[in-house]
Amino acid sequence: MCAFAYQDDELYCDGLKVKEIVAETGTPCYLYSQKTLIDNYAAFDEAFAAINHMICYAVKTNSNLAVLRTLARLGAGADIVSGGELYQALAAGFSPEKIVFAGVGKTEEEIAYALKNDILMFNVESMPELELISTVAKALKRIARISFRVNPDINPKTHHHISTGLAQNKFGISINHAEEAYQEASTNKFLEIVGMQVHIGSQITTVEPFVEAVEKVLKLAYSLQEMGLPVKYIDLGGGLGITYKDEKPPTPRDLAQAIIPLIKGSPYQFIFEPGRYIAGNAGILVTRVLYLKETPAKKFVIVDAGMNDLSRPVLYDAYHEIRPVEKVGNNEMIVDVVGPICESGDYFARKRSLPAVQQGDLLAIFNAGAYGFSMSSNYNARPRACEVMVIKDKYHIVRERETYEDLVKKEKLPKNES
Ligand SMILES: *Cc1c(COP(=O)(O)O)cnc(C)c1O
Repeated sequence: MCAFAYQDDELYCDGLKVKEIVAETGTPCYLYSQKTLIDNYAAFDEAFAAINHMICYAVKTNSNLAVLRTLARLGAGADIVSGGELYQALAAGFSPEKIVFAGVGKTEEEIAYALKNDILMFNVESMPELELISTVAKALKRIARISFRVNPDINPKTHHHISTGLAQNKFGISINHAEEAYQEASTNKFLEIVGMQVHIGSQITTVEPFVEAVEKVLKLAYSLQEMGLPVKYIDLGGGLGITYKDEKPPTPRDLAQAIIPLIKGSPYQFIFEPGRYIAGNAGILVTRVLYLKETPAKKFVIVDAGMNDLSRPVLYDAYHEIRPVEKVGNNEMIVDVVGPICESGDYFARKRSLPAVQQGDLLAIFNAGAYGFSMSSNYNARPRACEVMVIKDKYHIVRERETYEDLVKKEKLPKNES
C-alpha cells in the first residue's frame, strides 16, 4: 500500500493523520515516509539481485540527513555532485568506498576533499578535469580512481531540461572519443582507471533508452578490455521515472528484465544511481489554503507554499497531484493553485479540477520527495519549510522550519559606510 493513503476521507502517512502532524509543525511542511524509502530501495535492490551490483543513491534528489541515513543503513552508496554533498553523505554515514562523484565543474578544493576521504571514484566529465584530478592527486601523494562519464548520444525522451545524454548536452565525454581518453588516463601514474559511467537523463518512462545505453557502454567496455584497459565498474546512472500523473514507467523489475540479459555473465560490477525512484513518492508537501480568489478570468486557490518550496512545476512544467488532506465533498471546481510569490511562474497546478476547498483547508501535493526541498530557496525572503519524517509509528522533525533570523544570519553590513 502507498504510504500516503486516505482512510475515512482523511489522509494518512503510514498510519498517522497528516492533519495532526501539521497541527504541530505548521505549513508548508515536507512530510516523508521512511517506510516508502526503504521499500523503494529494496524493490530496486531485489530487481538486480541476479547481478553483481551496487546502488548509489543520488544525493541531490533529497539530501535531508534522515533520508540519507535511512539509505546508508540499508547499505546504499551515494552519488554526489559537489563537495557539499560529500559532506552530507559522510555526515549521514555513507562509507567512502561506496561514494561516486559526478559533475562537470568539480573544483580543485572539491577534488582534494574527495581524495582525502578516499571515495570510490570520480566520474570524470572532461579532459581538463582529468588533468586537474591528476595534479591534485600528485600533490596529495594519492592515486585517484577514475571512471569516465561517457555521453552516448541517446534521446531519453524526457523534458529537455533533464536530458543529459545527448551530444549537445554538457555532460560526459563523447563516446566516440572515449578510447583515446582512457588511453591517455592509463599513462598517468596518479590515476587508476576503474570504470565507466553513463547517465542519460531523468524521469525516463520507457526501457529503450536504457537498453541502448547499456549496449553502447558494454561495447566500449569490451573494446577497452581488448586494448588492455579493463574496467571493473559499469555505472548506469539514474533516471528511472515515476508516476506523477498517468505515466507508466517501467518498474525496476521491468528495467532489470530488459537489461540483465545483456549484462549477465559479463565481468563487471554494475552501479545504479537512482534518485527520483527512491525518494519521489516518499514525500508530500503539505500546504494550507490562504485565500480563494476569483477574477473575471479564473479561480485561484492561493496557498502558503510557493515556488521557492517546490519549483518543479515552473522549471519542468511538472504535474503534481494535489488533493485535500481531508476530503471535502464531491463538488469539483476548476482552479489554478498558486503560491504567494511575486512571479506568475509561482504555481502548482493550472486549470486543475479540485474539490471545493475553503480557506484554511490543507492540501497535499504528492510525489514531492524528489527535487522538492533540495531545490528550495529563500526567494521572497521566505524561510524554508520544515521537513518531517514518519518512522514506524512516530513522526520526527528532521529539519526545523527556518526563522527570520536564518534569513540574515550570513549577511554583514559593511562598517563605516552609510
Ligand atoms: C541526477 C542524477 C542522478 C539521479 O537521477 P534520477 O533521475 O533522480 O534517478 C543520477 N546520476 C547522476 C550523475 C545525476 O546527475
